[in-house]
Amino acid sequence: MLTSRSTSYLSALLVSFSVFSATPVFSQASNAVAAIATLAEAEQPKLLETLKALVNIETGSTHRDGLDTAAEFVAARLKALGGEVEIVEAPVADIYQLEGLPDRIGRAVRGTFRGSGSKRILLIAHMDTVYPVGMLSKQPFRIDGDRAYGLGIADDKQGVATIIHVVSMLQALNARDYGVLTVLINGDEEISSPASRKLIAKLGSEHDAVLSFEASRHNSDKISLATSGIAMATMTVKGRSSHAGGAPERGVNALYEMAHQLLQLRDLSVPETGLKMNWTVANAGVVRNMIPPGAQAWADVRLLRVNDLQELEGKVSARIKNKLLPESEVTVKFENRRPPLEATPASRALAAYAQTVYRELGKTLVVDAEPEGGGTDAAFAALNTKAPVIERFGLQGFGAHSTDAEFILISSIQPRLYLATRIVMDIASGKAP
Ligand SMILES: [Zn+2]
Repeated sequence: MLTSRSTSYLSALLVSFSVFSATPVFSQASNAVAAIATLAEAEQPKLLETLKALVNIETGSTHRDGLDTAAEFVAARLKALGGEVEIVEAPVADIYQLEGLPDRIGRAVRGTFRGSGSKRILLIAHMDTVYPVGMLSKQPFRIDGDRAYGLGIADDKQGVATIIHVVSMLQALNARDYGVLTVLINGDEEISSPASRKLIAKLGSEHDAVLSFEASRHNSDKISLATSGIAMATMTVKGRSSHAGGAPERGVNALYEMAHQLLQLRDLSVPETGLKMNWTVANAGVVRNMIPPGAQAWADVRLLRVNDLQELEGKVSARIKNKLLPESEVTVKFENRRPPLEATPASRALAAYAQTVYRELGKTLVVDAEPEGGGTDAAFAALNTKAPVIERFGLQGFGAHSTDAEFILISSIQPRLYLATRIVMDIASGKAP
């Protein structure tokens, strides 16, 4: 919505922009900066209202009713901003099978905004949280000084609200130099995006840049170029039961075979590349006096390079052929919970540009190219593209996945709205790399 106040900024902005590229006069550039910065300031209380509404809808990943309510809320907002909006239910064939999936996975909201240019820009965030229903009453929305508290407010309700208000600012500025601006808000990130990963990877490959809106740190104002990959390996050993006292020789001891396999698969970590594989859980057997007919073990896998998982799978499947008990059957199945996001020349260049934009506000933006251990959907968006994909375009916040009170810093709203809005505008106009 255009207020009379923002209309006057808008005219000032348009005047300065029309001559800005031809004659880079400092005062005109700073007029444009001031206009967008002031608009971001005016947007701050509205963003807090949106955040309050989002926090008040409980959206644990297994709580489909809550996720539906949130999806309808987001869809209505994007529609009101002029987007073509659909709520996407993933076809069953597109759902990546993981252990422990809920029966009904949260849907994604996709908003498409068409502009006058050619660049395609994707903004992503997620509306689901790790919290079971009923926790909102312990962490209601509230403001205390510079902090806005609330359940899931940092991870990732702020990301959803920030995207909505970036789009709102772009509309107010009449900034439509992009070809397509796509917004994707999914409802299954916290369970490794089984239903949305395929769509996110596809959208990532169809856009010229991807900004992902997980929160920045409350104590470090940063964007991230890399995140960790997480996978799980499940070993299943089939043997043959037999009476342990009467005829042990007729059995095939699955526990012995598993022990043998675990020992020969214990040294697959590669510290130099950040690949880690550790067997952490195992079980075998039925009762004491039966040769165990089956055994299972699970390994935690972390990686920093996308291709390392396939290579690891190859090594494992070659090694398990060496068996202690030839009659046993051994399989190892990998679950790719989330690939890593790797820093690329394109993401480094766009991040450096973002730093210059932030400097216009007199602020320093940290660019973090080292993963911190967590994984995000930015990695799916980056799977099939060389285009820049950058994480942590959201607000500064604290407390994701903890029982401590989550909060965001209110003072980060204006600079982060400014940053994301400018980056979208400058990618659209070809000014940003
Ligand atoms: Zn998140």
